[in-house]
Amino acid sequence: MASVSMVPSIRRLDETVVNRIAAGEVVQRPANALKEMLENSLDAKATNITVTVKDGGLKILQIQDNGIGIRREDLSLVCERFTTSKLTAFEDLMQIGTYGFRGEALASITHVAHLTITTRTADSKCAFRARYTDGRLREDPRPCAGNVGTQILVEDLFFNMAARRQALRSPAEEFNKISEVVSRYAIHNSSVGFTLKKQGEPAVYLRTPPRSSALDNIRTVFGAATAKELLQLTHEESSLKLSVSGYISGVNFAAKKSTMLLFINHRLVESTALRKALEQVYSSYLPRHAQPFIYLSLQMAPEMVDVNVHPTKNQVYFLHEDQIIELIQKKVDSLLVGTSAARTFYTQTLLPGASSAPPAADLPPAKAAARPQQTVRTSHRDQKLDTFVRQAAAAGAGDGENGAAAAAGAAPQSVRPVELSSVLSLREEVERGCHSGLRRLLAEHSLVGVVTAQLSLVQHQTRLYLVNHRRLAEQLFYQICLYQFGALGLLQLEESPPVRELALLGLEQKDAGWTEEDGPKEELADCVCQVLQRHADMLDDYFSIQVDGQGRLRALPLLLDHYEPPIAALPGFLTRLATEVDWETERQCLHDICREIARFYSWTPATDGAVGEPARLQLERALLPAVKEQLLPTGRWADDGTVLQVADLPDLYKVFERC
Ligand code: ADP
Ligand code: MG
Repeated sequence: MASVSMVPSIRRLDETVVNRIAAGEVVQRPANALKEMLENSLDAKATNITVTVKDGGLKILQIQDNGIGIRREDLSLVCERFTTSKLTAFEDLMQIGTYGFRGEALASITHVAHLTITTRTADSKCAFRARYTDGRLREDPRPCAGNVGTQILVEDLFFNMAARRQALRSPAEEFNKISEVVSRYAIHNSSVGFTLKKQGEPAVYLRTPPRSSALDNIRTVFGAATAKELLQLTHEESSLKLSVSGYISGVNFAAKKSTMLLFINHRLVESTALRKALEQVYSSYLPRHAQPFIYLSLQMAPEMVDVNVHPTKNQVYFLHEDQIIELIQKKVDSLLVGTSAARTFYTQTLLPGASSAPPAADLPPAKAAARPQQTVRTSHRDQKLDTFVRQAAAAGAGDGENGAAAAAGAAPQSVRPVELSSVLSLREEVERGCHSGLRRLLAEHSLVGVVTAQLSLVQHQTRLYLVNHRRLAEQLFYQICLYQFGALGLLQLEESPPVRELALLGLEQKDAGWTEEDGPKEELADCVCQVLQRHADMLDDYFSIQVDGQGRLRALPLLLDHYEPPIAALPGFLTRLATEVDWETERQCLHDICREIARFYSWTPATDGAVGEPARLQLERALLPAVKEQLLPTGRWADDGTVLQVADLPDLYKVFERC
């Protein structure tokens, strides 16, 4: 049997091997397969893209989008080499495609992995699933359930190329590459929501909401400390048919390693020449060993991108390269000169008269005069404080556009790589303490009704539970602070209220526990202001709490969309932040701050009365969905009355039977 088929099978093998080698050259590692698939999803007009990875993409690399989908009749074609639906852009493809794949991406992948496409177009009643091997459909596409859009599943990448598999770095490193690609595309395509997760793990590694801005996403990925130092750059050069835009770090920013995100005609590329040229510009502004952050998007006529580049290389060369690089150098230089001049000027104006007097002393005297009667001030306070808060970036994110993303399961949102081991260890503590039974209950529950400001009735399977949602909220906010550490959004305060004045209000509240022995309230309020100012950088970078040089509170963290913190508790929060946090040891300090923020955001008035409409809406629309999706509950709650079973349907049946 074997001998009979030997000759033809050797010839077939030949072709397969050739294809495989060719494909292996095109798809060198999971991250560049992913890049191709991301671009396909973006071409398909997706507004939500979810990437799920196992073992650094080697076991599973899956991308789900809500784009236009692929028609059933095209499913037999998409994985043949050099087939593309992008005929209108054919000329572009011939040129730009030289550093891309010219309709080769999917075909190549089928030669080195198991590929399954599940896709549905808007006019189709169902989705279709197709499996491919070596550039061909394995059998007719099968109808199945599915959302409009496309899911591409790549399994066992390089299963037939042992040497390649071995040559690859560890899954962890491949995952890093993948996360780099996803986060960069997320920044460049900020109108699209991106999610990156590891298969079977509760935490979402990265999430950017749809309709955000590039700057928002830079903040999510690289942190507030980076985002706030960036300068916007835009430039048009019609003679070169070139336009440049992006964000670059200013003179006050210094990183150990330079970061460069470069897109040419919306494709992520590298250009060593441009990188070196810009690092050189920065070297005359930054201290030695300090490196910049650069995100640039170049758009140029396709014919200007050098066509003689190997298709798999990310390195790109373009015509008029020297001229273009010089032009960008000049532009960057002029931006940096501008800001460094401003910096010098600022220091000079400060130097002569400025003293190091505590900023609290700068409070205009008018404020003191405006404080005669307590009652007036109290009502004045609530109103005024309410107007302080305005949701800066409402963004309207996460409203369930993408079924796939919504089905994500337990997941503290948007996590960016964090180096601080203290934060990682606090997260581990949360994860270790997570109770899987309660987790399932919370994930699958449905709300029966809100009972009081603190309690709700929920149903899970046949059981009814009384749930202390205030405690859940507190733990949720604590976890959000930990998992979005350094990447929290901002709630801008419309009129930045003076911290000192807020602290005074806080000290006057009954539960502040102020006694004569603590010293005069005025002094304590000064002290609160000073403590917060002293730690202002850290509070801003890590927690998006902004206190400015005048001692005014400028922003609070945005923990959940459509959720505003209870402003009545703001004074108490600031006072506690200054006095209850252990500022000395890192882990304890970060823990305490997260706890105080959580306590503040979950605060409810201590009444058992009915809940107001706005509070109920916040609970139903913002809080409980987030609890469902991402809260990791602690086992303690099963015993301490936080989650209390009040009835079980089968038991009730028994009761009814007896009646
Ligand atoms: P190219 O993108 O160069 O056309 P690919 O091999 O990457 O080549 O994709 C082949 C074809 O498959 C595309 O032209 C497109 O028609 C279809 N396709 C691939 N991915 C998607 C997707 N996520 N959504 C819709 N169509 C897709
Ligand atoms: Mg493609």
